[in-house]
Order: sequence, then C-alpha cells, then structure tokens
Amino acid sequence: MKLRKVTAASAAVLALAVAATACGSSNNDKGSGSSSGGGKKITIGIKFDQPGIGQKTPQGYAGFDVDVATYVAKKLGYSADKIEWKESKSADRETMLQRGDVDFIAASYSITPEREKSVDFAGPYLLAHQDVLVRANDSSIKSPADLNKKNLCSVTGSTSAQNVHDKLAPKAQLQKYPTYSACLTGLQSGAIDALTTDDSILAGYASQAQYKGKFKLGGFKMTNENYGIGVKKGSALKAKINKALEDMVSDGSWETAVKKNFGPAGYKNEPAPKIGVVKS
Ligand code: GLU
Repeated sequence: MKLRKVTAASAAVLALAVAATACGSSNNDKGSGSSSGGGKKITIGIKFDQPGIGQKTPQGYAGFDVDVATYVAKKLGYSADKIEWKESKSADRETMLQRGDVDFIAASYSITPEREKSVDFAGPYLLAHQDVLVRANDSSIKSPADLNKKNLCSVTGSTSAQNVHDKLAPKAQLQKYPTYSACLTGLQSGAIDALTTDDSILAGYASQAQYKGKFKLGGFKMTNENYGIGVKKGSALKAKINKALEDMVSDGSWETAVKKNFGPAGYKNEPAPKIGVVKS
C-alpha cells in the first residue's frame, strides 16, 4: 500500500518534470527567425571535431561553418550569445533536422539529390572537393585508381564513404567511423592507408600542430562538394538564409571568414559559389 503510494507520487513528479522540460524547450521557436530574438535562442548543428570547419575548443566554437552560421543567425535576429551549438555528426544530420533538434545545420553538409528528398538546403556557400589524406612518407597513392588496393577510412552517412563505394574505388577496403577524427589515429598507426573526405576538412587536420609533417593531401579533386545549410523540409528559413549568405559574400564577411579559417591550413578555396547553383 505504502509502496504503491510512493510509486504514484514519483510518477506524478516525473510527469511534472517531463511537462516542465517540454515547456522549457525552444521547440516552439524553431524556424521563427524572430527579429527581436529577446531571450529566445536558436539551435544550430555543426561539427565539433573538424579544425578550420567546425570545432569545439576549450575557448569556444571555431571554424568556417561556425562563422557562416553566426553571421546567418545574426541576420535572423539572434546575436552570438543566443546560439546553442549542437554536434551534428554526418549520419545524424537529416534526422536532427526532421525531428526539429536544430533550426539549421552548417556542418560540411553537401547538397545532394538524395538528401534533398528529406531536407532542404540554402546555399551553396562553399565548393570543396573529395580528396585523400595519406602518410607523408607514402608514395604508393599517386592517383585515385591506386585507392582500390588500399585500406581507406571515412565516415558513416557521408558522401565521401558513398562515393568510394559507388565510383571512386569500389574495390578498396573501406572502414567507416562516426567521425573523421576517429580515422586519424588509424592513419598514424598504419591501420589504414588513407582518410578520404573533403579537401577543406583534410587540410584542417594536416595543419594541426600534433600532425605537422606527418600527413599530406593527394590533391585529387575527385568530386564537387557543394556545402549547403540544411533546414527542415519546407521551412521558410531557407529563403532568409539564402539572403543572409548573399549579404555575407557581398559585404566581404565571407572572404574574411575564408582567410581566417582556411589561411592557417594553406587551403586554397574555390571562389564563393552562386546561391542556388549546385555544381555536379
Ligand atoms: N561534405 C561531405 C558530406 O556532406 C563530407 C563531409 C561530412 O561528412 O561532413 O557528407
């Protein structure tokens, strides 16, 4: 009897807690783009482990995607202190947008017809190319065809992994991890021969102090990766974000962000893409 009472009481407390959490969440604000911002926050998905692109550091969040997202958020009415950053791993991005976990995603997120079935994209705001990162002393990978005899590493849910299977090196042994940083240990130890993804990401890793002189990029430009900002399908945010991206290029902030984030890695970026023009 007593036990039952306690259980009922805890259930009531739990129900209250759940209700409170639901009320406190910013779900109702998703995609509002409210101009005042006020106390409201915007939730943005980025990568946490990609130096130069999206990285969580002890000092805060940094990278090109972070700067683009911060600029866009500002135009939508949210100052930097109103941004809540969430990690969006490659395989989680569509689901996070569909569930409303985030308002938008800027996470080295290539626009593809397959992804456009479930989410919408603003942009593109950067054109990158799939490449490989190999050990500095490895001269056996001279062209993409050489990858067919190699152990490759890439990330689940990425275009990089899909492209290896479908066209780039169908005979390669491909290991898939949740993040690119997880591949780096294997590359260093020799467990894998090459890490393959966008050159913009690989340049960031290669330039890290702890990897200086250890790795090199192939320079193969195997694909076009048009980075877009992902939003929920049908969201009115897409048009607003496109406008913000256009402003970012025309007022020079895009170029500044490129120099700041890619300069240290020596990454030679392509010019700013035209909004709505996806290069296949
Ligand atoms: N840009 C590619 C993609 O969207 C590779 C980078 C990544 O996984 O974030 O899949």
